[in-house]
Amino acid sequence: MLDAHTHRPKRTQGLIEIESPDIRLVREGNWQPTGPFVLGLHPWWIGQMAEPLETLFSWMEHPECLGVGETGLDKLISTSLETQIFWFLKHLDLAKTYKKSLVVLHIVRSWSELKPILRQSKYEGKILLHDCQASAGDLKWLETDERLWFSYGSALKKKTSRGFQGFLEAPAGKVLFETDDSGEDIENTVRMGLGFRPEVPYAENSYRFLKAVGYPCVSGKVCADPK
Ligand SMILES: [Zn+2]
Repeated sequence: MLDAHTHRPKRTQGLIEIESPDIRLVREGNWQPTGPFVLGLHPWWIGQMAEPLETLFSWMEHPECLGVGETGLDKLISTSLETQIFWFLKHLDLAKTYKKSLVVLHIVRSWSELKPILRQSKYEGKILLHDCQASAGDLKWLETDERLWFSYGSALKKKTSRGFQGFLEAPAGKVLFETDDSGEDIENTVRMGLGFRPEVPYAENSYRFLKAVGYPCVSGKVCADPK
């Protein structure tokens, strides 16, 4: 079972979680890896810590580090979009420099700003749109970008939301699920998601995604469907 994005890993057997730790805790020495992770300066923490790049550099070559993130664009915060874009591009460069095959994105109400960045970026790894809130309309152009994967969690509980409508349209072979910071049981999230979209091959998606981002998941067992 795969939890594609979490801030609160449980690390129980049979569960693969891609943790996204709080870089401020990492910087203070109050975090240690317990499994696969990505590291990035979340748009919310821009300007809130000293020398984020130094912290990022120091963890990129850790064997459990799958990539960078979450980074991205968030129109609901006061940090200027220009500054957010600066950091977003820095993360893409970092992923290229360290040959990381995963970038995790946090995108809030910034789909039109994301478009030119993706079009111009020569990054060749996979990009996970975590807690994807893209509308069905945006999904139409997003799904033409082969690098993108679409991860759902909170949107599944808001059936009237744009994100939920987008979820119904997301390409079945690119859908993943996540708990983010909810602390919930990923099995419940997956079960709920597959209840709405039974055609999504979750075990297969998890396997293909993990393989694409360089995670050694070969037994098939670890990527099994929920019971
Ligand atoms: Zn998150």
